[in-house]
Amino acid sequence: MTTGVVPPLALRAGDDTVHILCSTVADGDFHIEADRVALLHRRAAFTPGRWSQLDEVHGTSVLTVHRPGDHDFEVGDALVTRTRGAVLAVWVGDCAPVAMVGAGGAVAAAHAGWRGALDGVLQATVQAMADDRVTAVLGPCIHPCCYEFGVAELDAMVARFGPHVAGRTAWGTPALDMRAAVRAALAEVDVGLVDHSQCTGCHADRYYSHRRRQQHGRQVVTVCKRAAE
Ligand SMILES: [Zn+2]
Repeated sequence: MTTGVVPPLALRAGDDTVHILCSTVADGDFHIEADRVALLHRRAAFTPGRWSQLDEVHGTSVLTVHRPGDHDFEVGDALVTRTRGAVLAVWVGDCAPVAMVGAGGAVAAAHAGWRGALDGVLQATVQAMADDRVTAVLGPCIHPCCYEFGVAELDAMVARFGPHVAGRTAWGTPALDMRAAVRAALAEVDVGLVDHSQCTGCHADRYYSHRRRQQHGRQVVTVCKRAAE
């Protein structure tokens, strides 16, 4: 079963179509540490092709995929390619998964938690794409309603991105608005954000959440450029 970034998106990149998909709990656990054989089966059921899925560490390193499957299970937080059929996969359990599509044919997938966003992973990804008119699409992530956040860390995010990244949880405590942080980071490099993101904390039927439900499972967002039909 394949569901989308509510809904699944197909964007044009040059002569190709870029497919952006997001799993739900019904598709199973895409944690990089999930049983390897089971993970490979889940990948094949989700979307065809050779995958590049990184061992994400909340850093800023961007790896370029030249051949489908390059860098699979290596350490990094963002992937860029111009290669058709390469499946770029970002796995998340509250952090922001961001797909990017350039008008000239580069595509990317980035994992941004608050630390990665603060350190510039999204801007680094856009720079590595070296493309024009990049569009970014945000997948499901935790929203301020469910994302209680430490005051010191929140101050750092506000200092970096502005007061609108500070929010309130549903129970009235300080919260981080990751959607606003992603939007602000991308605006620094003139990239607009398409945001149909749902809150992972609020939608237990659909998404895993580490912060809200202490779940170990992770959803995946994939980006793949395929020849237009
Ligand atoms: Zn929520």
